[in-house]
Amino acid sequence: MAKGKLTIDSEKCKGCELCVNFCPKKTLELGKETNTKGYFPVTVVNDECIACGTCAIMCPDSIITVEKE
Ligand code: SF4
Ligand code: SF4
Repeated sequence: MAKGKLTIDSEKCKGCELCVNFCPKKTLELGKETNTKGYFPVTVVNDECIACGTCAIMCPDSIITVEKE
């Protein structure tokens, strides 16, 4: 199974958690520090990403990029 490398544009994240809730590997969680807009952007919390691309599709602002490693 492919591994994924995520790039997240944290300054644009609204912390809506759609990506968090739809990730089959629980790879994303809201971080503990706010961005300059006052939202808690998502961070990667494990190395289980399988590059399925669901998070990138679900994000309303398309701020996640998934690459296969
Ligand atoms: S690509 Fe798939 S497995 Fe990886 S973080 Fe996004 S939803 Fe989770
Ligand atoms: S879906 Fe997009 S805006 Fe919402 S928490 Fe995830 S990365 Fe942030």
